[in-house]
Amino acid sequence: MASPGSIRPVATGVFTMPPDDTTAPHLLGGACDRGHGPFFPRPTYCPRCLDPVHEVDLGGHGTIYSYTVVRTRPPLGFPQPYAVGYIDLEEYPLRVFCLLDPTCLDELKIGRRLRLRVGPFGDDGSGEPLLRPLFTVAEEEG
Ligand SMILES: [Zn+2]
Repeated sequence: MASPGSIRPVATGVFTMPPDDTTAPHLLGGACDRGHGPFFPRPTYCPRCLDPVHEVDLGGHGTIYSYTVVRTRPPLGFPQPYAVGYIDLEEYPLRVFCLLDPTCLDELKIGRRLRLRVGPFGDDGSGEPLLRPLFTVAEEEG
């Protein structure tokens, strides 16, 4: 089994790659200088005014707006079942579609606070593992 450090990310510019487990990963989006956005994933040009966009750190926390558990035969080496959902980010009024942690399916519920994690998840379709961002259950606050 390859170590996470040797596994390539599914895409670049979508999430930060922390050097160790003590630093939380963040999603990356984009916004233009006219104040449109942020958008996720980051587009090359602003979809509202076509200006170039700069990178925006979208943070690493959100709450579940909606989700589903997928029990059909999974693609790309995903586990069966796996889950996907819409997450309302905490730091921006932005809803993103993302994989959810398949190890905490029983804890998922609408409104639940989640945090981003990045790790080996699935493959590239030919068996090569990839790092993917997914949201997992955040620790309950005090
Ligand atoms: Zn714009």
